[in-house]
Amino acid sequence: RVLNVAIMGLGSYGTRVAKAMESCTRAKLVGLISGSPEKVVAWREKYNIPAENCYDYGNFDAIKNNPAIDAVYVITPNALHAEQSIRVAKAGKHVICEKPMAINAKEGKEMVDACREAGVHLLIGYRMHFEAKTLEVVRMREAGEFGKPLFFQGLSGFVIGDPTQWRLDPKLSGGGAMMDIGIYSINGARYMLGEEPIWVTAQEVKNNPEKFRDGIDETITFQMGFPSGAVASCLSTYSMNNLDKFYLNGTKGFAEMQPSTGYGPIEGRTDQGPLVAEHVMHQTTQMDEMAKLIFENKAPKVPVDGEEGLKDMVIIDAVFKAVKTGEKVSLV
Ligand code: NAD
Repeated sequence: RVLNVAIMGLGSYGTRVAKAMESCTRAKLVGLISGSPEKVVAWREKYNIPAENCYDYGNFDAIKNNPAIDAVYVITPNALHAEQSIRVAKAGKHVICEKPMAINAKEGKEMVDACREAGVHLLIGYRMHFEAKTLEVVRMREAGEFGKPLFFQGLSGFVIGDPTQWRLDPKLSGGGAMMDIGIYSINGARYMLGEEPIWVTAQEVKNNPEKFRDGIDETITFQMGFPSGAVASCLSTYSMNNLDKFYLNGTKGFAEMQPSTGYGPIEGRTDQGPLVAEHVMHQTTQMDEMAKLIFENKAPKVPVDGEEGLKDMVIIDAVFKAVKTGEKVSLV
């Protein structure tokens, strides 16, 4: 069965997801939710979408009565995710929501609860969880090929442009680089090491307080400790380009990926040689696999459910607390 999807938020990432879905065999773009009538006209034409599958932010609860739509993919600014996802769940549709799933763990938990209550899936757009080279590193680590993993390094950043964009408005973003790109290092540390952290320490550097106002972090370095004794050392920034690197080291071997989370082909090697796999648009694989998850209960190797998203939100809350207090924050 094909997963019939409506995209909510026809912005830059929504455009990328729609393009990638053109190559899907199990998922299809069939509906739109947007506040921009002119975008709806253009998208309807491009994707042959019937008028009755188009909604705006005021009336999309009526999607409840539309059997042509199975799931809504929420691709709007971070601070809108919780309220919008909960409305989708209440309309009885599966929710696919972009990362970060919300702007704090409290909201994330409300989303998980609402979707459970409504009996719908809540999936987070963690496209790397379906990427072949990433999964090969996870397989090698699980097979013990790196020995006991003891260290992860995650570097995540880019130079943010337009100072008026929602990403630099704390009311819409819930935070700066950490919410947007630092989350990749948090999430990566967890799937590369295969453990959940038990403590966090963090330090913030703000060189441009005019651009990065209160509530918008520019650069944060943070460390996480894991039950096995492994540690992670990570950097999240809005002030350096091409910062997209993962490094995992164990007692016997290592894996290194750069780029590690970008859209283009992931490049990497281990102590055994280069990582080799065909590049497929991440969102194409993601959406096909999410259809299998929803209809066939086929769980991916690295989870993408709401509980998984919530784990990252708990850690982000702890990073912000560690920055504020200067203290080591326990996660247990
Ligand atoms: P964007 O600004 O390009 O698009 C956001 C869309 O939301 C726009 O179409 C905008 O019109 C709409 N919107 C609705 N209500 C709005 C409001 N009140 N204020 C501003 N815009 C409003 O942003 P984007 O880059 O597409 O990011 C959207 C989401 O996707 C974010 O949560 C982001 O973290 C996530 N994202 C994920 C990835 C990934 O690789 N998984 C990549 C980029 C973005």
